[in-house]
Amino acid sequence: MDGLPSDLPTFEAGWVWLTGAGPGDPGLLTLHALNGLGQADVVVYDALVGDGVLALANPACRMEYAGKRGGRPSAEQPDISHRLVQLARAGKRVLRLKGGDPFVFGRGAEEAFALVAAGVPFRVVPGITAGIGGLAHAGIPLTHRDINSAVTFITGHGASGGVPEALDWPAIAAGAPVIVLYMALRHLREISGKLIAAGRSEDEPVALISRASLADQRVLETTLGACAGDAEAARIEPPALIVIGEVVRLRAGLDWLGALAGKTLRADPLGTDARAKAV
Ligand code: SAH
Repeated sequence: MDGLPSDLPTFEAGWVWLTGAGPGDPGLLTLHALNGLGQADVVVYDALVGDGVLALANPACRMEYAGKRGGRPSAEQPDISHRLVQLARAGKRVLRLKGGDPFVFGRGAEEAFALVAAGVPFRVVPGITAGIGGLAHAGIPLTHRDINSAVTFITGHGASGGVPEALDWPAIAAGAPVIVLYMALRHLREISGKLIAAGRSEDEPVALISRASLADQRVLETTLGACAGDAEAARIEPPALIVIGEVVRLRAGLDWLGALAGKTLRADPLGTDARAKAV
């Protein structure tokens, strides 16, 4: 493809590239992903991969959908893995395109193990995960020296379909200053309730980021006590991220997308004594 570094890898026939597509904005693709889109014979993509990204595939490439659509059940995971093996064995260059990063809450490892078991050669192309790129597009830093020295990524959706049962919520409440939740919109009442019961303040700032980095991105600022009700009232739609922690306050100064639309940014949203208050 024009303009790409010449030393990017050649997509060999019979290979699968397990590739992250980023949170949605095509500008957040990696050069490796773009290189794969230019050479692939088949793209097997998930629901979270945006149209803008798919439009970058070479015109000869076949597009195969492997996610949920219109309320139909999602393609079964063994079916997807089987399909990848089948296409690779037929000599195709198979770009398996997944939202965000393939190894973050995306079953990428399960698919990779199926390829290993079948002896299909593969490459993993990381992507910008929604919990990082999505926050940047909302103007919320994952860390700030005066606020947090750790970030905790959690899926709100376990293998059983409910909130993951093995999670130690009291330990999370005590030890995770900033929490980023994936797939948690439906379970927000339960999760926020568990955190409050374990000692987190109802007033702690929370942001919900829906369709991050896409043209219709929405961000709702709320609190831990009110977030479940506010999300319903505002009709926040998936895919959405939930950010819990004091870093959310920094959005008053860092909402660069809002500034493009005329919002005035505050240079010191924590107040002048932020350092004194930092823990
Ligand atoms: N592998 C993906 C995550 C897949 S799990 C990644 O690394 O980003 C699916 C969840 O990701 C969604 O329920 C939502 O919580 C989050 N997500 C993915 N894309 C998103 C987007 N554009 N905006 C907000 N959340 C997103």
